[in-house]
Amino acid sequence: MEQVKCLIIGSGPAGFTAAIYLSRANLSPVLYEGIEPGGQLTTTTQIENFPGFPEGIDGPKLMENMRAQAQRFGADLRSGIVTKVDLSSRPFRVTINDEKEIAAESLIVATGASAKYLGLPSEQKFKGMGVSACATCDGFFYRKKDVAVVGGGDTACEEATYLASICRQVYLIVRKPFLRASKAMQERVMNTPNIKVLFEHNTVEVLGDECGVTGITVRDAQGAESRIDLAGFFLAIGHHPNTEVFAGQLELDAEGYIKTVPGSARTNVEGVFAAGDVRDPHFRQAITAAGSGCTAALECERFLLK
Ligand code: NDP
Repeated sequence: MEQVKCLIIGSGPAGFTAAIYLSRANLSPVLYEGIEPGGQLTTTTQIENFPGFPEGIDGPKLMENMRAQAQRFGADLRSGIVTKVDLSSRPFRVTINDEKEIAAESLIVATGASAKYLGLPSEQKFKGMGVSACATCDGFFYRKKDVAVVGGGDTACEEATYLASICRQVYLIVRKPFLRASKAMQERVMNTPNIKVLFEHNTVEVLGDECGVTGITVRDAQGAESRIDLAGFFLAIGHHPNTEVFAGQLELDAEGYIKTVPGSARTNVEGVFAAGDVRDPHFRQAITAAGSGCTAALECERFLLK
């Protein structure tokens, strides 16, 4: 069986940052890229809030750069999906693609979280062309335009409020007759003049042309359908962390996010670290994920040198 000092699972900003740090420390990390190589940023266009790129950078390009940087220092980047782990003793046993087994002295889990989508074919068609699951990433491109946010939780309210500060009109599309968000967030939404809340509305279709989204069709509680002209359509109906394979072995919170020791990347299993969105239901930014990948790598390095 192949033996490795450190195995990193996931190829978003957290995974690649951990790989950069560990390879520079001569710890020969092996990184498996997972289901969506490059992670969520590969589904966005321009990223303007990642420091160091005054003109902005395309999401896929940023990830390509991080990947190349990890490779430059010798990180062993492989395609493959982790299908099983056994963390009951060290070295940990990790199965790739249901076939290959690897023994790892330490593990960094950076498998991320995936935004939930409604599941409409038209929504998938315009992903990255007006359909987005991150207002702070993409909102700026809809400056002075009309947009919609789907969801009634804190994220939807926060994103609607943020978008209202840059867009002309924001429609908040809520499937229930009430918002689930905290009282304070609800009040903020209700007191923002350019947010219109459409209660008991569901999105039936995302409309668009070769340039991207042009509108949506919504259905109200009586079944009546209407069209809203829009340039941007934002989903804020929750995320799900990619932790299924770790259930029962790593301590997870009620939503399935990996629990870590506060201020650290350490999990409940010594030698297993978690970084990025897989442990962060709150911030979900490329820069915070990269930062936590760095923390995980430094802690992992200390653990391996012990
Ligand atoms: P939530 O699960 O709280 O809310 C999801 C929202 O999306 C709900 O209104 C839900 O509707 C709606 N929804 C789900 N599926 C669909 C669908 N298929 N069609 C239409 N609507 C749908 O997720 P959030 O991301 O908002 O929040 C996650 C957690 O993070 C919460 O605990 C929240 O409080 C917290 N948070 C805190 C913040 C803060 O404190 N500043 C900021 C952001 C998040 P329904 O109500 O009908 O189920």
